Amino acid sequence: MDLGSAVCTPRSPRCSDCPLASHCLARAHGTQELRPIRPARRAVPHYRVTAAVVERGHSVLIAQRPVGGLLGGMWEFPGGKQEHGETLEACLRRELREELGVTVRIGARLGIWHHAYSHFRVTVYAYRCRLQRGNPRALAHSRVRWVRIRALKTYPMGKVDRAIARMLASSA
Ligand code: SF4
Repeated sequence: MDLGSAVCTPRSPRCSDCPLASHCLARAHGTQELRPIRPARRAVPHYRVTAAVVERGHSVLIAQRPVGGLLGGMWEFPGGKQEHGETLEACLRRELREELGVTVRIGARLGIWHHAYSHFRVTVYAYRCRLQRGNPRALAHSRVRWVRIRALKTYPMGKVDRAIARMLASSA
């Protein structure tokens, strides 16, 4: 007899039919309905992330993620995770300063996208931006590139960046 599936089932153990009943501590303590103890499900972290669609004429700035990390080698609209106490705009300015060495003027919000990875979830806020100061450099990426909007489809991207690129192409 398979005790686990036939007698000592998690939801309704049949203790009166159980050959181990006289040895069972759970039954002795009256806690058989509470066994087995399941580990608490770990909360999935959620991050708010900003992304910049930096425009120059009919082109936008994209950056290639370093090989080896999450979405390694894929191209993205630069940006990053919001830090505690930071507004989304301040987050975007900081990320572009740190990642590209530029300052930008932030314009309209283009949209909000939700995505779940295997170990965390993100909500991505994308904004139109214009360069104010500096020449974009790949300080945290492998490469940065100005790309015409209609050519974005030829660059490999993750789901959210692809969705942003599609939206730009459809409104170009
Ligand atoms: S007596 Fe113990 S082992 Fe047997 S069914 Fe009940 S809880 Fe399970």
